[in-house]
Amino acid sequence: MVQLQKPEWIFFDGALRPWDEAVLHVGVESVTRGVNVFEGLKGYWSHDAKSFGVVALPRHFARLQRSARLLHVPCPYDLDYFQDACRQLIRSLLTPERDMWLRAVLFIVEGHWGVGDRADLVMMAYHQDKQRPEPINIGVSAWQRSADASLPPRVKAAANYQVARLGRIEGRERGCSEMVLLNRHGRVAEATGSCILMVRDGCVATTPATEGALESITVDVIEGLCESLGIPFVRRPIDRTELLVADELAIAGTLAELVKVQRVDNYDLPRETPVLDTIADRFWDAVRQVKPHPAADLTIMADESHPLEAR
Ligand code: PMP
Repeated sequence: MVQLQKPEWIFFDGALRPWDEAVLHVGVESVTRGVNVFEGLKGYWSHDAKSFGVVALPRHFARLQRSARLLHVPCPYDLDYFQDACRQLIRSLLTPERDMWLRAVLFIVEGHWGVGDRADLVMMAYHQDKQRPEPINIGVSAWQRSADASLPPRVKAAANYQVARLGRIEGRERGCSEMVLLNRHGRVAEATGSCILMVRDGCVATTPATEGALESITVDVIEGLCESLGIPFVRRPIDRTELLVADELAIAGTLAELVKVQRVDNYDLPRETPVLDTIADRFWDAVRQVKPHPAADLTIMADESHPLEAR
């Protein structure tokens, strides 16, 4: 599991530091009230292993800024700083055999109840295997996604993952590696760490953010790929029972990537997944630079003119 790695370096307090030196005081509001906002970014090696690029980096920074703004977490950093921190960390840890997933977090390190706040941008990067994910079993959780008026799902904050954690624990006991959270209307919101893509009658549907989904960057990428592929794509509410009668179902997210679902609770889904297979092939071709696509823009962190040996 990605979270269990202990990489050598971490970007903390403005510089690369050894992992064990990146510590927060127990009294800071990031710890006492869990005030932080974050992003998860994915970097892929090209198919020929000559170039390493991070997907949609500027859009991730923009979403981090939006989350920070909504929670009144100060973000004194610009895109250049963010990108440079990513680059430093990736280049310190990158190996040719593995891709990377990065977590970028704005932790409140000074201040209280929104007074005198200061935040620090911290980045962690983890190695990931290059192979495409296997189909999974999912379930529908008894836990519910919070509403916009309580804990807005559009904010990517650690606090928003308490319910996700409960859902995952519940799912593990039921043999499910991901769980769907319903919203307070009993319709599909999203999964605990990814969005839902449902195919019915050749059309891809996903829930809009107003149903309780994060404003997903991967879903935007997939929407762009579908447009090029001539596959209809809609954002609309999804009923719980639609998951059970879907022609094809998948979860999508930066870390999850695009993972097919073979079973929802005790309902098996059709084995043939022609629409999802077409999208998945196009997705991998885009991120692995076989056939780039503007929807999956890459920020190059290492290539032949910036080889890793030069760091
Ligand atoms: N929903 C939740 C709750 C998530 O944590 C994620 C992963 N960031 C997603 C959806 C997918 O968002 P993205 O495609 O931007 O990674």
